Amino acid sequence: MSRRPDGLLTHNLLDEDKGPQDACGVFGVWAPGEEVAKLTFYGLYALQHRGQESAGIATSDGERILIYKDMGLVSQVFTESDLVSLTGNLAIGHCRYSTTGSSSWVNAQPTLRPTKYGTLALAHNGNLTNTGDLAESVHKLEPDAPKNSRGATTDTEIMTALIALQDENNVEASALAVLPILEGAFSLVFMDEKTLYAARDRHGVRPLVIGKLENGWVVASESAALDIVGASFVREVEPGEFIAIDENGLRAHKWSTPEPKGCLFEYVYLARPDTSIAGRGIHATRVEIGKRLAKEHPVEADLVIPVPESGTPSAIGYATGSGITYGLGLVKNSYVGRTFIQPSQTIRQLGIRLKLNPLRDVIEGKRIVVVDDSIVRGNTQRAIVRMLREAGAAEIHVRISSPPVKWPCFYGIDFASRAELIASGLAVEEIRRSIGADSLGYVSLEGLIEATQIAEENLCSACFTGKYPIAIPADMSEGKMRLEITEVQGKK
Ligand code: SF4
Repeated sequence: MSRRPDGLLTHNLLDEDKGPQDACGVFGVWAPGEEVAKLTFYGLYALQHRGQESAGIATSDGERILIYKDMGLVSQVFTESDLVSLTGNLAIGHCRYSTTGSSSWVNAQPTLRPTKYGTLALAHNGNLTNTGDLAESVHKLEPDAPKNSRGATTDTEIMTALIALQDENNVEASALAVLPILEGAFSLVFMDEKTLYAARDRHGVRPLVIGKLENGWVVASESAALDIVGASFVREVEPGEFIAIDENGLRAHKWSTPEPKGCLFEYVYLARPDTSIAGRGIHATRVEIGKRLAKEHPVEADLVIPVPESGTPSAIGYATGSGITYGLGLVKNSYVGRTFIQPSQTIRQLGIRLKLNPLRDVIEGKRIVVVDDSIVRGNTQRAIVRMLREAGAAEIHVRISSPPVKWPCFYGIDFASRAELIASGLAVEEIRRSIGADSLGYVSLEGLIEATQIAEENLCSACFTGKYPIAIPADMSEGKMRLEITEVQGKK
């Protein structure tokens, strides 16, 4: 719960049913003569699913950087006049879901920091795993500055300070000095007054792509954001690559040997279905996952329905693979935002009904297969099964287009702790009983990986397997890795 500036208490109603929370979208454009702030606004609009807590845009006209950021959705933060006043030739933007640091204005991005050669603005998607060591390095570079003097608590602020404080002559040299000491997942866009930069960690955990406009360049978290601003896809920023874009065009440096470990969960849930990763459309991948799910967990039923919208492509795949009719059985209210006026107890008990409502005429008397992307705590699926039973379903068979999520993510997605992940403490049959379904089937890890058409060794699957490709320091994992609470809760 939080208090708004106007004094109203707000409550995140969906917290009780929270699925995986996305970690941020980044966008950058270098296009003299274009309305770069508006292009960035629309780019962020396309990336809104990656972060809904805050949004920000920084622009530069070659002489000075202007920045505007605030809490809320992209459409709530910026008015037409804000965008008109953000003039310039280049811009970066960010929409945030907090994975480190609190959800507050001071932690909204882009971050801004003066350097001895100009100003640096930076936006980050991912999560660093050596923030403590980096904070110490910042402290050594500016020993007189009180720690956290600006109230910032994020890995992004620390990385911005580190680049800005390097004893180099420009941002490019400073960034190339700092990138090798950053550990963890980072897809970055940043800028000074004249140049747009981008960089990706050597594992390429989070996506980052380059697009071409008629008169410029775009860098974005997902290819869908290129489509929306009319940019054509050029290529991905490679893992371990640094990009600079200015009046001389695009320059690329390999700052590290790539060791790809792309996030497997991007394919299941995070990325938009109209995005492509590694040349393959996410929608097609999810349909294929659904076909494999039908093969691995067949059942006799009358109708396959998705949990909209992230379950839709896999439900289509399940229906195709099984030959069972596909239909809509749950209607989603697309206008449910993250934050609500604190509801009364009665309203809160309506819970998921604010978000989903069953089509009784379609459901009644039928044996239903309901396809969802993942189970985190199990609250959502329990509520959906109850809702479908109340709507008269004869049988309810839950099918999940990812393997059981058993481990937390330390690379930029908020999955909660092991203690809160239902699959950490319970076997599949116990989860089935807990959510009240007649049967439950998850796609296998092998089936999921085959559907992506990416080699297993080039993917991160740590939230399913516990095999973390980037080491997690003890102080970071402590607490999130404890299981005790789940074991107690699971036996209730
Ligand atoms: S742990 Fe899971 S969500 Fe996190 S990067 Fe790896 S696959 Fe993605």
